[in-house]
Amino acid sequence: MAYELPPLPYDYAALEPHIDAETMHLHHDKHHQAYITNVNAALANHPDLAAKSVDDLLRDLNKVPEDVRTVVRNNGGGHSNHTAFWNLMGPTGSSGVGGPPSGAIAEQIAKDFGDFDTFKKTFNETTAKQFGAGWGWLVLQDGKLKVITTANQDSPLSQGLYPILGNDVWEHAYYLKYQNKRPDYLAAWWNVVNWVEVNKRFAVAKG
Ligand code: MN
Repeated sequence: MAYELPPLPYDYAALEPHIDAETMHLHHDKHHQAYITNVNAALANHPDLAAKSVDDLLRDLNKVPEDVRTVVRNNGGGHSNHTAFWNLMGPTGSSGVGGPPSGAIAEQIAKDFGDFDTFKKTFNETTAKQFGAGWGWLVLQDGKLKVITTANQDSPLSQGLYPILGNDVWEHAYYLKYQNKRPDYLAAWWNVVNWVEVNKRFAVAKG
């Protein structure tokens, strides 16, 4: 069963003015689709692998045969990361989107970072420093929230970590609107973070 591009869970313009509709069209319809097309092509002769979820493949990359491992890591990673990413954002101004977090994740952020502003600062500074293309992530490790980055499309799942929140800092995610100003994109992105989804993913991370 080939992987398919999940529809964007909101309108392409829903994240305006923080993320523009043109970026969303290119990012979702072209970039995400390309990762899916590439991983499907690589797995065409591996129906046993294609029958698994892409997240399961990423959790155990060593079990993926060497001839397709890099494609799964890069393009399967791209599919997994972007699927999470679209759901981690929501329409500007809607309930549970932007502003400070609520629920269990808010309590855990207060516990592990002191307050929300300190957490945001840590996330933005860590992610701004990721050299070249990659992602910034919030994960739970040994019961504590931690901000990490990965290069390219590497998934935290491959390190045994479940991504609770993640931001894409490939230039394709922000260059049309923000050009070289990655910190401005990072700062604006908090306006579209969907805390309802973050709380759901936090519950999964806790297991
Ligand atoms: Mn991307």
